[in-house]
Amino acid sequence: MKKYSLFSFLLVSALCLQAQPKTPAAPAKPGTKPKLIVGIVVDQMRYDYIYRFWDKFGSDGFKKLVNQGYFCKNTNYNYVPTYTGPGHASVYTGTTPAVHGIIANDWYDKTNGKTMYCVDDNTVIGVGTTAKEGKRSPKNMLTTTITDELRISSNMRSKVIGVALKDRSAILPAGHTANAAYWFDGSVGGFITSTFYMKELPAYVQNFNKKDPARKYLSQPWNTLLPIDQYTESVADDNKYEFVAKGESKPTFPHDLPNLYEKNGGLGMIRSTPFGNSLTKDFAIEIIKNENMGKGSATDFLAVSFSSPDYIGHLYGPNSVEQEDDYLRLDKDLAELIQFVEAQVGKENVLIFLTADHAAPEVPAYLMDLKIPAGYLNEDKLFTDLKKYMAANYGDSLVLSYSNQQVFLDPAAMERKKLMPQQVQDDIVNFIMKQDHVSEVVSATTMNNAQFTEGARYLMQKGFNAKRSGDVLVNYEPGYVDYPHYGTTHGSPYSYDTHVPLLFYGWNVKRGSTTEQVYITDIAATLAMMLNIQFPNGCTGTPIKLPTHQNLMPRGEETGSKK
Ligand SMILES: [Zn+2]
Repeated sequence: MKKYSLFSFLLVSALCLQAQPKTPAAPAKPGTKPKLIVGIVVDQMRYDYIYRFWDKFGSDGFKKLVNQGYFCKNTNYNYVPTYTGPGHASVYTGTTPAVHGIIANDWYDKTNGKTMYCVDDNTVIGVGTTAKEGKRSPKNMLTTTITDELRISSNMRSKVIGVALKDRSAILPAGHTANAAYWFDGSVGGFITSTFYMKELPAYVQNFNKKDPARKYLSQPWNTLLPIDQYTESVADDNKYEFVAKGESKPTFPHDLPNLYEKNGGLGMIRSTPFGNSLTKDFAIEIIKNENMGKGSATDFLAVSFSSPDYIGHLYGPNSVEQEDDYLRLDKDLAELIQFVEAQVGKENVLIFLTADHAAPEVPAYLMDLKIPAGYLNEDKLFTDLKKYMAANYGDSLVLSYSNQQVFLDPAAMERKKLMPQQVQDDIVNFIMKQDHVSEVVSATTMNNAQFTEGARYLMQKGFNAKRSGDVLVNYEPGYVDYPHYGTTHGSPYSYDTHVPLLFYGWNVKRGSTTEQVYITDIAATLAMMLNIQFPNGCTGTPIKLPTHQNLMPRGEETGSKK
């Protein structure tokens, strides 16, 4: 018996020795730096969606990021307005509109009296399009992004590309030094860029567009992924809180896209369907493949933003079957993207983070029916009433614009009448404060002279840019918006707009979660620390204490002690 055992032992040992070169040892160790970072921003994703749809998610999408990654459950925006342009800029610059200057999506430009779009750039033209939607660049963003710092730190060897349906969601994350940013143009049904980045679309992008991918997705009806009676997390499909598309009599499934899209904005209609996410995912995979991302000597960075959830939220609201179905389908797209990236560069070499550019409230009309204080303001009326009041008191309305909840005074008229800004601002503050459902009104003079440390005024101050913002800033009561009575909108300092998910996953990230308060501006600081590179130049965030498997980075003091 013993002899036999010894023989087996020797035999097994011999076989093992022989087999050794072929047998993989422990799972591959992560390198000192990730080969690829994939930054994912989901437009209008509330943190609670992770839990609301948890039982219906597959195991390889959101669940994988939560179960194998690190979940910062209490991540908030720390400024207003909570809009898409400022949101993407803040994630990637690690600071707020006060510093990076992207104070809204569009704002009244005090220098010329025109409306400025956050990624407008008249010095460039579209590539892949003749539409004005091509005249875009990040030039209005005043600071560097984490992606810029990655490029600079690698002496430009890191490849950085941004992609999204929305131009601002592709351009701002990719920064000033990006290799490329691509966004969707409904008039061509594919992805375009601008001369800020290149003179001609790469052949693989042209080929992608030639396949007419948007039209393909729109040639099938949008039906629910699961039988509709399983959507128990949402209100009934037929309800009065939802948008009804042209050509539909009710806001219900199936949405007959092949017969709807010509009447509803052409190929651009893909934006307000979950197939907008699928199209973005398809193109992101094409980019990684054709650009060999993650295969070079330096860390590459793909910034992907999924814009469709925002369009769907604006039309149908967070409690619609449409939005639930959108997230169930996004979960599948996410799974496909993660799987592809891991196969391409190895699971241990990719660092993924996922967050949102803002969240959203329930449809106010729905809250009103639940007897919760909420409702609608009329900003046009507020502005008209203000102008009348000012004209009666000063013989001139003195105000040029009310936009993004800010009043812009007319400096020429103020000069003519020799008026002191502070006195006029205070007068406006008092007038607006008397209006229904207004909760806070603060003058620019106060913003410039006082320092708020908490509450809505603190968030208003972090969103206040001394050069670009208005003369009086207004906040409304919770649940109040200026919006149609269907769908929802966002922009406030309240939890329903500021609280978003934040997940880190992959390269050197240990699984876990925290309920500690972290801010959206901490993401770029955290990435800078993980990569041992410079913070973006306006960064005001603090690195999050992420539990990592090991300190993989060379430490200066250790090298020093060995000498
Ligand atoms: Zn939105």
